Amino acid sequence: MLLENKIAIVTGGTRGIGFAIVEAFLEEGATVILCGSRPESAEKAVLQLKEKNSLAKVEGISPNLSDYNEVKDAFNTIISKYGHIDILVNNAGVSESTPFTDYTPETFERVMDLNVKGVFNCTKAVVDYMVEQKSGVILNTSSMVSITGQPSGIAYPSSKFAVNGLTISLARELGPKGIRVNAVAPGVTYTDMMRSVPQKYIDPLVAKIPLRRIGQPEDIANAFVFLASEKASYITGVVLSVDGLARS
Ligand code: NAD
Repeated sequence: MLLENKIAIVTGGTRGIGFAIVEAFLEEGATVILCGSRPESAEKAVLQLKEKNSLAKVEGISPNLSDYNEVKDAFNTIISKYGHIDILVNNAGVSESTPFTDYTPETFERVMDLNVKGVFNCTKAVVDYMVEQKSGVILNTSSMVSITGQPSGIAYPSSKFAVNGLTISLARELGPKGIRVNAVAPGVTYTDMMRSVPQKYIDPLVAKIPLRRIGQPEDIANAFVFLASEKASYITGVVLSVDGLARS
């Protein structure tokens, strides 16, 4: 198994891509602490996983990711309990599609608070431990729009450009300390949000994808498993596109 004896924290682990990452990490032998936005959603996700496998080494927490002190307290408790922390996946995120003319500063702040400040807070809360143990892997969920931009919802692509900046810069700073930092940039992925989209909107999207299908959460989770594992021990500062598109 690729992640045996590893302790991993996965934010936004209650559904969608994050839930698939949690499942894949558990299958590879990791102990996973998933973060949800509310205690009930974290508990529900843990129950779902334990129903599938009663031996799954998983627990749920729900700190407010935009509040550094809350994150630090919650992560300190986890690290004291397990004695170390090997992998942090900063996956929680919100998307946005308001046209710029209708944009409010509050909308901008709401997206940035989770998608950028949340990544900063969680990373800051684990980094001293990883530096001390001279090892660690930090993985961020970026997006295809961090490369292409998008025609509305300015905060979302801006936040994901920032995630790439954090990833590449921290990889440079933390590499000499034994810590790898990478990101995965999913394309359109079939999560709950997509299930309500009528097929007539999905078909033209699929036609533009050389691999002729929408991504599944498991496609994205597989990339996270690889980057978290020793198989990627010489890879850092990469934003790996997992989107079925052929890029030059
Ligand atoms: P989702 O809405 O299904 O899940 C989002 C997760 O983030 C949930 O676990 C939720 O609990 C958590 N979350 C939301 N708001 C939160 C808050 N305020 N505090 C703490 N946690 C919060 O979304 P998803 O599609 O699985 O997206 C996961 C990540 O993948 C996001 O970073 C998103 O930007 C990125 N992404 C998704 C797609 C896609 O097509 N689905 C494409 C590119 C990138």
